[in-house]
Amino acid sequence: TARLAAIAAVTGHQSSAPSLDSSAVPMQDLFCANVFSKKVMQERLPEAVFQSLMKTIESGQKLDHSLADAAATAMKEWALAKGATHYAHVFYPLTGATAEKHDSFLSPDGKGGAIAEFSGSQLIQGEPDGSSFPTGGIRQTFEARGYTIWDVTSPAYILENRNGKTLCIPTAFVSWTGEALDKKTPVLRSMQALNQQTQRILKLFGHHDGAFVASTAGPEQEYFLIDRHFYYARPDLINAGRTLFGAKPPKGQEFDDHYFGAIPERVLAFMMETERELFKLGVPVKTRHNEVAPGQYEIAPMFESANLATDHQQLLVTTLKRMAEKHGMTCLMHEKPFAGVNGSGKHVNWSLGSRSQGNLMDPGDTPHDNAQFLVFCAAVIRAVYKHQGLLRAVVASASNDHRLGANEAPPAIMSVFLGDQLTDVFEQIKAGGANSSIKRGTLTVGVDVLPPLPKDAGDRNRTSPFAFTGNRFEFRAVGSNQSIAGPLVAMNTIVAESIDYCATKLEAATQGKPESLHGAIQTLLAEIMNECSCIIFNGDGYSDAWHDEAERLGLLNLKSTPDALPSLEAPEVTEMFQKYGVLSPRELASRLETYLEQYCMSIKVEANLTFDIAKTMILPAVNRYQNELATTCVNMQSLGCELDSDALDEISSLRQSLQQNLATLYSAMNDAFEGSSTEHAQHYGRVVLPAMNAVRESVDALEGIVADDLWPLPKYQEMLFIK
Ligand code: ADP
Ligand code: MG
Repeated sequence: TARLAAIAAVTGHQSSAPSLDSSAVPMQDLFCANVFSKKVMQERLPEAVFQSLMKTIESGQKLDHSLADAAATAMKEWALAKGATHYAHVFYPLTGATAEKHDSFLSPDGKGGAIAEFSGSQLIQGEPDGSSFPTGGIRQTFEARGYTIWDVTSPAYILENRNGKTLCIPTAFVSWTGEALDKKTPVLRSMQALNQQTQRILKLFGHHDGAFVASTAGPEQEYFLIDRHFYYARPDLINAGRTLFGAKPPKGQEFDDHYFGAIPERVLAFMMETERELFKLGVPVKTRHNEVAPGQYEIAPMFESANLATDHQQLLVTTLKRMAEKHGMTCLMHEKPFAGVNGSGKHVNWSLGSRSQGNLMDPGDTPHDNAQFLVFCAAVIRAVYKHQGLLRAVVASASNDHRLGANEAPPAIMSVFLGDQLTDVFEQIKAGGANSSIKRGTLTVGVDVLPPLPKDAGDRNRTSPFAFTGNRFEFRAVGSNQSIAGPLVAMNTIVAESIDYCATKLEAATQGKPESLHGAIQTLLAEIMNECSCIIFNGDGYSDAWHDEAERLGLLNLKSTPDALPSLEAPEVTEMFQKYGVLSPRELASRLETYLEQYCMSIKVEANLTFDIAKTMILPAVNRYQNELATTCVNMQSLGCELDSDALDEISSLRQSLQQNLATLYSAMNDAFEGSSTEHAQHYGRVVLPAMNAVRESVDALEGIVADDLWPLPKYQEMLFIK
């Protein structure tokens, strides 16, 4: 079987990836080696051009298009000197993947030679034949034109492989009508909105410098590594990214011996080369460790501004996959590649800050700073409370459904973890002057200094989907395979809205009497807490008690993607995105349509695979074994032994139920189903998915009785433990 061949290949594995001489070029010299960084720009651009670009990059000012030619020339010369032959506009379509179109710098010079050309207009705008990207109805194929537009705030970089180099230019992808067809455009817009509203609060606190307040993001990426021979022996992994069959191995993660354990040699070699590659590309990777499940690992970069972090996150994912291949392995990004084993998430750490004010989610040292921190913190709490449905919707996907709500990832209920001390502070404010705290007297905003809050970001509550970790919030419900753009757009926009609400109240209360600020804050915070504090939960998010309590509190519990996605079309969500100029109603509707379609397609592909694999790989193996058993029975009988057909009966009855389950799946897949996109998604979730699971149950039971040498698919214990 392909499985036995894979095992033989893996056990005889010799690394083909050459060893790196890591002392030849020290790591610090690699950082940004392949990036058209500020340093390179300063060296290569005329001073006026450089200063103008910096204004766009650092303060979000509009790009002056007359600079494009100078910038293009400098970029081209830098890239050619490094050996690049092509340039590519890189963009981020709604598939969540990275797309790129490569063009050569070289054009024929008409005399039998070629010259390198790259103009300002080629830098600023490209026109990929973009008719094949999902647009959720925004763009018909007959008006297929899509444009990629240079994003100056995300630096260009050079991607290399052993045969050449390409200059990559991060871009936004829009339709000819100017509508966003991608994930980047809304991130940039939401950052603008957040900056604009935040400035109003900063002004109230006397900070008038206007330094751009950016949202910051630090995503922790979990992933699995398996030997590629196993991968190629499993059509389900190749086509769906997860195993659709596989009995639970005798040994799983119950020993807790993998988390933070010594990293296996082969994996460490892979990690080190990956980190060097990412360093060259300017991705500030920092942390590596084993994760909870066998074969599972994590990599985390230092945080950066949301837009840059999003692009770097995409680059990190493609680099992990590329390097794994080079080291004879496959990197699995799916949220649940192995049933019954921990899944993978992407914890998105999120905050906001500016050059002059630093991190605004950092509690301050003075009562005045603390008051400012409390306003921002309360704005986030209010935002999560008001937009639970949206936050759930932006992490919804067919694959993340396998993770959310299981006892390993946050539940599908959104809540905020604050920790005991900060909760106590807000409780006191809510009590509004009443002497409510047993530990201390009542807290008065702007007078008391906060009790020292724990600043270490230790994982004090792994069960919370949205946790305050000392100086930032951590959104833990994001799936390992998702772009972080959607979650960041949601966080930026809902917090912008909340900050707008706070600023409007505070401005009104302090007009002409700035000295009343602290009193106004006290009133505002008490109001917010009275309305929204039920979203704060510091307990065990996995417990049944919380599910009951959340229901009593009226919190949403949207268990599956078809339940969650329609939150995108709630009137308050549509209005909010429009008001802050992040997504027009049409752009938003196109996203709902696209994501519902993706959900249906994922399950459809899995259902087809389940059917095919069961029919063409599992049943033949079962037949062979059944035949073997039958022959044994006949032989035994002919020798006059007593007939013992238990094993034969067992396999025959399992085989029968497998066939019944396959018939049910077949009819579920071929139902002539009429209805809206949401109803289609519900049909896939409620009818097709359970039918697939039933087939799986039969197959997994068969795996436990069919002779090992006949079983065609690599087993869990092999994929997870043999490296
Ligand atoms: P843990 O596993 O304890 O959550 P990690 O060190 O794995 O911590 O990851 C923490 C992540 O949070 C890092 O990517 C870090 O850069 C990021 N982070 C720290 N401060 C901020 C901030 N102000 N804004 C956004 N992300 C931050
Ligand atoms: Mg971590």
